[in-house]
Amino acid sequence: MAREKILKGIAVSRGIARGTVFVYETERIEVFQTPIHPVYLDDESARFERALDKTKRELVNIQERINQEIGQDFAQFLDAQILMLDDDAINKEVKKRIIEKKKNAEFVFHQVMNEYAEKLGASKDTYLKERVADIWDVGTRVLRNLLGLTHSSVVDIPEGSIIAAHDISPSEAALINPKTTLGIATEVGGRTSHTAITARALEIPAVLGIAGLMDKIKNGEKVIIDGDRGILVKNPKAGRIHFYENAKKKDQELQKELSPYCEMPSRTRDGRHIDISANIEFFSEYTHAKKYGAEGIGLFRTEFLYLTRRGTPTEEEQYRVYNALAARMKPNPVIIRTYDLGGDKIFSDYHEANPFLGWRAIRVCMDDLDFFKSQLRAILRASVNKNVKIMFPMISTYEEIKRVNLIFGKVKKELHEKNIPFDEDIQFGIMVETPSAAIMSSHLAHQVDFFSIGSNDLTQYTLAVDRGNEKISQLFDHFHPAVLNLIKRVIDSGHESHIWVGLCGELAADPIAIPLLIGLGIDELSMNPSSIPRAKMVLRAITIAQCEGIAETVLGFRTALEVKKYLRRQLSSILPNIDKVIP
Ligand code: PEP
Ligand code: MG
Repeated sequence: MAREKILKGIAVSRGIARGTVFVYETERIEVFQTPIHPVYLDDESARFERALDKTKRELVNIQERINQEIGQDFAQFLDAQILMLDDDAINKEVKKRIIEKKKNAEFVFHQVMNEYAEKLGASKDTYLKERVADIWDVGTRVLRNLLGLTHSSVVDIPEGSIIAAHDISPSEAALINPKTTLGIATEVGGRTSHTAITARALEIPAVLGIAGLMDKIKNGEKVIIDGDRGILVKNPKAGRIHFYENAKKKDQELQKELSPYCEMPSRTRDGRHIDISANIEFFSEYTHAKKYGAEGIGLFRTEFLYLTRRGTPTEEEQYRVYNALAARMKPNPVIIRTYDLGGDKIFSDYHEANPFLGWRAIRVCMDDLDFFKSQLRAILRASVNKNVKIMFPMISTYEEIKRVNLIFGKVKKELHEKNIPFDEDIQFGIMVETPSAAIMSSHLAHQVDFFSIGSNDLTQYTLAVDRGNEKISQLFDHFHPAVLNLIKRVIDSGHESHIWVGLCGELAADPIAIPLLIGLGIDELSMNPSSIPRAKMVLRAITIAQCEGIAETVLGFRTALEVKKYLRRQLSSILPNIDKVIP
């Protein structure tokens, strides 16, 4: 009997899962050259053909599955990969070289792919450049089939799997199938990394940042993921299994207890309404938002449309998604955030030394106006539903807003000229997630209709702590007084200019943060849908006077620890059973 072992990490997506490890690895495959006897050259070409056919069948299957389970929009990127397999120029070249060089198919194919990728990589056209990643994706799949190796993609894993990986890229994370994936464990990443966000969106228990995971775990091992305590148990003993089965039962009972809150209005005990809305990344998640009682979409992270497609979606493709989302959520509002690419959300061979301080979000869009304008047009066209608001990420200067507004105005004018309808009163907002925007918020407020505080980035930039770096994750704390003081400043600036202020970072979903944020005057909280019932439970138990008292005290504290201890005590005194719902 293998020995039980407990591995510690960061709890990022709640719940308990028991399953079998599926190791997801993205390492490059080694290809060796082997001479082929002339008699077998035709067989070698035929072997190459069979690998192409097999790869195509696999991709078509994956595409069908994504179509059904996540949505058509997210299956589109595979079209380009399937087309590559039919590329006559590549296929003829490979067969020609097998004959000429008398070398094995994998060696020749790898060489041809390399040359092709290099050519595209050198291109000035960003669309072609982006295809390099697709070439390697599809090329690796063909190579694996030629070499008879099993595939390693999160999309086609066996049922009952717990994914164990060093890291999962945002685009790969988008392919995780909640029907086959019971849990996720990775070596890198923290609470606000995109694997974490996707895991929460798909309601899959996850523990990230487990040091040395890949050396400690093997394919096929039995494990338990405890997404509440941040633990992975390898080879669990009978007693442990019993404990977790019990905990799971209790959790199901808790969910049942919280479920009536989905339907209840989001009002404080003394009747103040606070909008509670949902953060989503995929169109299909609007069903989660509705199920848990969101009053709208407070943040639609549109970059996932780009990442899952692995390239720029057309205006029409974008419009279809935005329009469908707005139509399904009507009359509740949908805040569409323009692309927040860069940082940890870039899909290409583009690298820079400090991606979070670099070419990210609005900076990327401003450098490619055709790309940006096509998204603005798509959002404006969807605004005919009358419930769409537009929001811009990573604003750090006043000039940026002025420029964005100018471009937005131009796009509106162009639509007018073409008689394309849109909502003339569409609200124009920004995310306040850089310290400079927070500090300058009283000036920025005159330029916009609303603020939404991005506490994830605001924390990372204020504390100079990379939000995805597990080595320093203990320093990443959105309860740090410096962050809280900036949040207060933003809310006050917004209210002085009579605009509403929301918060859509992870802080919004933390039960102990809710009385504080309300005491600071927040108008809207947007969070991952499954946190909504718990947030409503807290909201409905507190009064504005209590919250204001709490906020005043907290603003006098010097450390995050003092803040958290105090908030927990306060909430426990208001809601004695709160310990049951806070991990
Ligand atoms: C944030 O930064 O708090 C936020 C909500 O945006 P994202 O997590 O997508 O960067
Ligand atoms: Mg952000």
